[in-house]
Parts: sequence; C-alpha cells; structure tokens
Amino acid sequence: MAGATMDKVVSLCKRRGFLFQGSELYGGLQGTWDYGPMGVELKNNVKRAWWRANVYERDDVEGLDAAILMNKLVLRYSGHEATFSDPLVDCRKCKKRFRVDQIEPNEKCPAGGTHDLTEPRPFNLMFKTTVGPIENDENIAYLRPETAQGIFVNFKNVLDSTNRKLPFGIAQIGKSYRNEITPKNFIFRVREFEQMEIEYFVMPGTDEEWHRRWIEERVAWYHQYGIRSENLKQYPQTGDELSHYSKATTDLLYRFFPEREEGKQFDEVEGIANRTDYDLICHTKGGRTTFKDGSFLVNEHAVLKQTYFDQATNQHLTPYVIEPSGGVDRIALAFLMDAYEEQKLEGGKERTVLHLHPDLAPVKVAVIPLARNKPDMVEMAKRIKKTLQLTGRMRSLFDDSGNIGKCYARQDEIGTPFCVTVDHQSLEDHQVTVRHRDTMLQDRIAVDSLQGYLEERLR
Ligand code: ATP
Repeated sequence: MAGATMDKVVSLCKRRGFLFQGSELYGGLQGTWDYGPMGVELKNNVKRAWWRANVYERDDVEGLDAAILMNKLVLRYSGHEATFSDPLVDCRKCKKRFRVDQIEPNEKCPAGGTHDLTEPRPFNLMFKTTVGPIENDENIAYLRPETAQGIFVNFKNVLDSTNRKLPFGIAQIGKSYRNEITPKNFIFRVREFEQMEIEYFVMPGTDEEWHRRWIEERVAWYHQYGIRSENLKQYPQTGDELSHYSKATTDLLYRFFPEREEGKQFDEVEGIANRTDYDLICHTKGGRTTFKDGSFLVNEHAVLKQTYFDQATNQHLTPYVIEPSGGVDRIALAFLMDAYEEQKLEGGKERTVLHLHPDLAPVKVAVIPLARNKPDMVEMAKRIKKTLQLTGRMRSLFDDSGNIGKCYARQDEIGTPFCVTVDHQSLEDHQVTVRHRDTMLQDRIAVDSLQGYLEERLR
C-alpha cells in the first residue's frame, strides 16, 4: 500500500479530469488552474459541505455573497492598500524573484553557485484594474485579496436586516486574487483562488472562549470528512508570526508534502484568528486603521458607525471577531491527498483508489453495461442512471468507456463509492451487481430496491 505524494495526486488530477493548467492551449498562465469535469464536482461538494456545516446546521450564522470589485476605500481602510505586501528579493545572477520566507539560505542558482540576492523590498499583492471607460488613478479598483472585507463592510446591513443578537456570524464563499510572487505546488499557492470565511461577532470578553470553540469545530469538520488525525496539526502562531491586530491565531496545518524531510511536511490549510475589534473599527465613521509601526489612518469616508447596541447595558459597543478562514483549493487538495491510495491486490494486480467521503466524491454512482454492444443492456443501464439522477440526491454517471475492468479502475481513481453493473442476467431477473469502492465486495440487488439501498449507504 502506498499513500499520496503531491506529484502522484497532480498526475491523477490531470489524467482523470480534475484539474488542467490555466490557459494551457496558449502555453499557460502561471498561478491559474482550471477545474475539469471531476474537479468542479469535488470543489462544489467541498463548498456545499462547508456551507451545510457552518450555515444550515447552525442557528447563528448568516450567508453573504459580496461583490469582488469594491470601492477602493474598503481596501484602503482595511490596511491592504498600504501593507498587503510580501517582502521579495531578486537574484542578481539569474534575475529571478523570490519571497524572502520561501527561499532557502544558500539555495543553488541556475546561473551557477548560490543566489546573489538583493535586500528585501515590499511587493503589493493586489491586482489593480480600472472601473469604467476612463483609465486614471481615480477609477482604480482592486480584485479583492480576501473575502473577509466584503463581510466587514456589510456587518451593519446583515445585523439590521436580520435582527441578530451577539454572538452571530456571517459566512461567505468566493474568489480571491493575489499576485503571488512565486505561485507553486499545484493548487496550493495560486493567483486566483476561492476562500471560505466566517466572521463570527462576539461580545468582547467572550472572544477567547469562542476562538477555542471555533478551532475545535473546524478540526472536527476536517475529521468528519475523512482527514486523518496524523495529517492535521494545530499551530498557534507566536511572536512576529502574529499580525499586529490579532490577539491569537491558530493555523491548521495539513501534511501536503509527505515526501519531504521531517519538519517540512506540513503547511497551512486554514487559519483561525481572534481579530479583536480591529476590522469593525477600521470600517466605521471616525474609526482608525492602525498599522504595525503605530501610525494610523482616520476613517473620513464611511457613512455610518458600525457598532452594536447592547440592550443589557444600554450601550453601543464594537464586537470582537473570530475568523475561520480557509481556501477551497487547498482544502480540496488536502482531501485528495488524504483519500489517495495505491493498493497491491491479490494476483499481483494494482489499483489506485480515492477513498473520498461520499459527500465529497464527484460521482456517487456509475452505471455500467457489461457489454456496450448489447442495446438492451445499454438501454437498461441508461434507464437506471436516469432514475437515480432524478432523485436529485446522487450524481450518477453512465459509463461505457471501456471493458468492465477499465470502468472499475477509472471509477476507483475518481473516488466513485458505487458501481452498478447491468449484465445478461439483469435483463431476465431485474437484478444488478453493486460494487463497493473501498472493499471491492459485490452485492446482487433488485433494481426496485436499488435507490433505497444506495441512499442508505450514501447518507
Ligand atoms: P500563506 O501564508 O500560505 O500565503 P496566508 O496566511 O496569507 O497564506 P490567509 O490570508 O490567512 O493566508 O488566507 C486564508 C486561507 O486562504 C489560507 O489558509 C489558504 O487556505 C488560502 N490561501 C491564501 N493564499 C492562497 C493562495 N495564494 N492560493 C491558494 N490558497 C490560498
């Protein structure tokens, strides 16, 4: 048995239509990836599982879908315009550019010897564009580098339209853009990605307890969907790692690089921060955006105060915020890596299988005719597929892309929990064979009971 490496997962993803390099036909665009037929299903399922757990199954979180393009003042008062940058260095020999924290000391230079690096200087990661037909500084807008700011500037709108009381949260899933200096490691670090973020507003003084509870909630969610304990770690940030506005941040680290030496195998999949009242104060009339060096910017543009009226004390206050923030792409990659297994079977055969949680699997059931040149069999398989699909509860696929062994291998590789095979006998006795992905065991089931049988096991 062998587990995943990033290279193996990349290869499977390309082979089976999960991901393709962005703009591949024209030589690609670095830091972009296109989700193929299987990838789009996986990604949608990850988002659905997150939304279900954090919005539908709780009674204290509302959803939001804010615009990607925002008034540039949003990103000025959030502090991003002045400080959303990474320190970068240039190599004088090979002319390549690196993020300071991503280059090893004495790393080999392709032009010979080791790199000859310049002093670090800041590089703003936001993509700029102009809004409207005139290109000038007045009309600049940024593609948002995180979804969070769309939530903060809508705090009052959501509060007033839902009559919420603290504590409550706002959840959002959407695209974010960062002009990363060195996009790499497949979909781990890209320039266009999706985030799933919650801003959970609490009474000051209860923030530490809620921070702890959100860390537990988020860890439990990963385990619920199949991530193994040994592959997920909590890392409380210390010292300089912590943003100046954060009281505490715990990163959840996943073992993205099992092939690396000990100590370099884990990297961030999600961060859970206690951001205090920093963001709401930044985005409030007369509020202050405070920078790391102690300087500040007074908000002269917001049209109202973003505060909360506490009926118990008859006072207006600014809530504290707990922020669980994960990237859809990184999370999908973690699920892919955890699910990946190469198995040696009896008789010397091998197979690769994705043990994805059924809720995440791109396809739940593949219906396969044993002989694709037998019209009766094909017709029966197509009818079964249609009936299952029409339930709306299981993505079903008709698969006659090869012989039965090839179909099983393909479905194992994309993580399909069940294959239903229609054979000669099925035409007579109206029974089909159901093959289970993980055990490869087979059951003979009457077509009339098939839907119930599958639903029970997919639940
Ligand atoms: P890193 O240190 O890896 O650059 P970050 O700490 O800047 O990440 P956050 O700003 O906390 O990341 O963003 C929250 C989440 O968004 C991350 O945990 C990650 O899952 C995702 N994310 C951030 N940047 C990228 C990126 N360039 N590509 C893919 N996902 C990303």
